[in-house]
Amino acid sequence: MAKNNKRRRTCFIFVVGGVMSGVGKGIATSSIGKILESRGFNVTALKIDPYINVDAGTMNPTEHGEVFVLNDGYETDQDMGNYERFLGKSLSRENYMTTGSVYQSVIARERNLEYEGKCVEVVPHIPLEVIDRIKRAAHKDGADIAIIEIGGTIGEYQNILFLEAARMMKISRPSDTLFVLVSYLPVPNKIGEMKTKPTQYAARTLNGAGIQPDIIVARSDHPLDEKRKEKIAVYCNVKKEDVISAPDVESIYDVPVNFEKDNLSSILLKKLGLRAKSKDMGRWNSLVSRIRSFEEPIRIGIVGKYFKTGDFVLSDVYISVIEALKHAAYSVRKKLILEWLDSGDYENDAKNLKKLSEYDGILIPGGFGSRGVEGKIAAIKYCREKKIPYFGLCYGMQLAVIEYARSVALLGGANTVEIDSKTPHPVIDILPEQKERLKKKEYGATMRLGAYPALLKKDTVAASAYGKKTISERHRHRYEVNPEYIEPLEKAGLIFSGTSPDGRLMEIAELPREKHPFFLGTQFHPEFQSTPLDPHPLFVEFMKACVEKSGKGK
Ligand code: GLN
Repeated sequence: MAKNNKRRRTCFIFVVGGVMSGVGKGIATSSIGKILESRGFNVTALKIDPYINVDAGTMNPTEHGEVFVLNDGYETDQDMGNYERFLGKSLSRENYMTTGSVYQSVIARERNLEYEGKCVEVVPHIPLEVIDRIKRAAHKDGADIAIIEIGGTIGEYQNILFLEAARMMKISRPSDTLFVLVSYLPVPNKIGEMKTKPTQYAARTLNGAGIQPDIIVARSDHPLDEKRKEKIAVYCNVKKEDVISAPDVESIYDVPVNFEKDNLSSILLKKLGLRAKSKDMGRWNSLVSRIRSFEEPIRIGIVGKYFKTGDFVLSDVYISVIEALKHAAYSVRKKLILEWLDSGDYENDAKNLKKLSEYDGILIPGGFGSRGVEGKIAAIKYCREKKIPYFGLCYGMQLAVIEYARSVALLGGANTVEIDSKTPHPVIDILPEQKERLKKKEYGATMRLGAYPALLKKDTVAASAYGKKTISERHRHRYEVNPEYIEPLEKAGLIFSGTSPDGRLMEIAELPREKHPFFLGTQFHPEFQSTPLDPHPLFVEFMKACVEKSGKGK
């Protein structure tokens, strides 16, 4: 072997889903990452989505869930947020791909004559591009182990080319590549027994794509018994100890701990021939056991408009906000109770506003468009006047500025041009760089996206929460506080405690502590950077104010 052949060895673990979607493949992927990281390896995680959309930015969150924004501004799937929260590190655009983005690069290369006259075909050129991207992501992150979650369920047409890529990788690097099948075992009501047959079919369908699972993670309401493990082992061609029991758990952060009950990290490392260090899950384990002990509730109301939109799962639209609130609640040793409040209720009947006093704090998350906005503004006004802790994220900050402009700075009819282009007081206006793009109807990835630095003003709520002068936070917005209105707003008492380094963009608006227990909004999305072991300082500060209110009684 060549002497200088010291290429770092990278291993690849593909995670695929069987039987049905929504059984927690993303959490399983994140948890596998966590337990391998705890054995001393540098782990990265990738998500492959089988959509034609080039990124997740153009997808309606009510259909697809939250759009998770990375530091580099890429708009991705919510699972990327889970990976970051479990691994405690930020990932980059290389870690996310869709069918659309893969085809886009292959077609661009073809137009560029990079295939030198060859016939460019779906197979092998699409899987080769996928493999290339997986390797690039692993390389960029300096990963020992890359975990790749393939979206969708086995047996769908949509993800077949990704399975093909995985199969090709296994052939070229058999000892570096593993497959984990996350399957589901139903317990039909009338039968009352856990059924393994759907999982057997899923494994067989995967075999049909030329892939044999190495590990089967068996999701179910209950833990798997020995008999079921044996059955799956026999019919799916795996060893009994390679069938991992993954019952429903109270908190998603329990999942890595549960996986380790079945020794998953050791099994994976053994299969990959990697020498394992002893486990270092101490902080994680102690957080998980502490979470179980919190009993005292803290009640937070989230005011939004997406809450009555048919049968989608709410928690998917605001997953990072919910998780960030949980992290902050853990830090103050409380059990988080979340309630979803429809902003429309405050438009039709102002009496409903009184109910806001029953909460320890109110949060308004990001949003777009006009529906429900006046209700949100009414809720903000109520929180400001009744001194209920208020935290506004992005739109929630812009609407707080509008409310303050109207009620305190007395700028009648103040609004955002997103809703009213003819407002007499456009306190929230379009970012100049977005004007041209909007004229040309270029809507994809046209917002101010990703991480930007901001400077904090001394002696403010924000500065004391962060405990530093410069921060970096992620954005996703088209509009901003209009610089022409900063002076009248400040004169009226609003404090812009965070700005872009050039002072042009307002990043945080707040009221001083002597005027309000917590009234703060951020133009950015702090929720994207909160992790269970490192809760976001602004969420923690908000939560502390909520605890104080709850202590005072209603
Ligand atoms: N609609 C607002 C804007 O585009 C806020 C966006 C958001 O909340 N993410 O600026």
